[in-house]
Amino acid sequence: MLAHRTNLFGTSSTAAARAAAKAAADAGKEIIDLTAGEIWSELPPTIRDGAIDAINKGVNRYTDTLGMVELREALARKISLDTGQIWKAEEVAVTSGAKQALFNAAMVLLNPGDEVIIPAPYWTTFPAQALIAGGTPVFVDTKSNGYVPRPEHIKDAVTERTRAIVINTPSNPAGAVYDVETMMAIAQLAVSCNLWIIFDECYGDFVHGDHTHHPIVSVAPEIRARALIVNSFSKSLALTGWRIGYLAGPKEVINAVKALQSHTTSNPNVIAQHAVLAHLQRGGSDYESKLRSRLTSARRAGLDVLSSLMRVLVARAQGGFYFYLDLSHLLRPGSEDCASTTADDIVTALLAEAGVAAVSGTAFGDPAGLRLSYGIPPEKLATGLARLVEFLNAWK
Ligand code: PLP
Repeated sequence: MLAHRTNLFGTSSTAAARAAAKAAADAGKEIIDLTAGEIWSELPPTIRDGAIDAINKGVNRYTDTLGMVELREALARKISLDTGQIWKAEEVAVTSGAKQALFNAAMVLLNPGDEVIIPAPYWTTFPAQALIAGGTPVFVDTKSNGYVPRPEHIKDAVTERTRAIVINTPSNPAGAVYDVETMMAIAQLAVSCNLWIIFDECYGDFVHGDHTHHPIVSVAPEIRARALIVNSFSKSLALTGWRIGYLAGPKEVINAVKALQSHTTSNPNVIAQHAVLAHLQRGGSDYESKLRSRLTSARRAGLDVLSSLMRVLVARAQGGFYFYLDLSHLLRPGSEDCASTTADDIVTALLAEAGVAAVSGTAFGDPAGLRLSYGIPPEKLATGLARLVEFLNAWK
């Protein structure tokens, strides 16, 4: 009955993990939910005021498909500051979150059968969108290299069908921040093989320790004509529900996105656009700094608790707000009379027995991984991680 296309994707597994946590909580269990891809935080005052002003003015109409010109101009100024280059409004599309920016990019860049190189473990939506657009995801393992891809592995994965490489730094789920050398090497490869780079920097505001986030177009300006920057306010302003993101890239791509978006969603929500514009115009960066320092403390406290894990490797969590665990030493390989275990089994037992919800690495193409969000209130985080450590250390 349904289109064949529906066989290409299921509900996002991170959303499914959130739903399992909610179902357990609704059934009366006291659950600590570490699945969220969002930060627990109050609404930025600039956003609230910007939205209320727009409502009080009676704003109610469509805007330009790609967003209000003033907002695109403000975003162009932001991207210019972020990258140290000059960007114009015509190179920016406002989208309903980064997810739509990525979807638009896949739809306007990929022909049927085109391959897209995606470092793994990956955010689950990257391959799903490539498939929906008719492309083929090709995964490059990063686990053996601290969750940053080796450029030579990417090079080995390039074929004559390769059309694009997805770079997500800081990465979801592993929290890896790509170094400048890696990005330069990937950029050179993109130039020599005539590939697009889809650069997702949604977590770029959250880098920890002595790490720095570098936009790829700043590291390698020569790739600007083949790079698409994807970002949103979902993470940086803890504004997931407001759905404002953007795509920046060459004008021809943005024009194609305009045509596509004119037949799908039209403009992103107008009140949310006004709110983000107000923030960009009057915001300062106090809110962002507060959010960053809250996450820095949560990360420090969390890594401290996780250091008591005995047979589990914990990635360094250089950016974003996730801890990523490697459960390989806890998993049982399959045998004749016994099926193998994966992180899925541990996640199910963790929820049922310890009341802690986490996302299994199978969602990210890594059956031995486990993702924990630390964007939740500190007391809950402390309780959840303490329960998790006790549970995993006792796992047989
Ligand atoms: N890109 C990455 C790497 C993400 O992790 C997410 C959300 O979790 C998104 C994009 C989507 O963000 P948005 O809520 O702005 O659509």
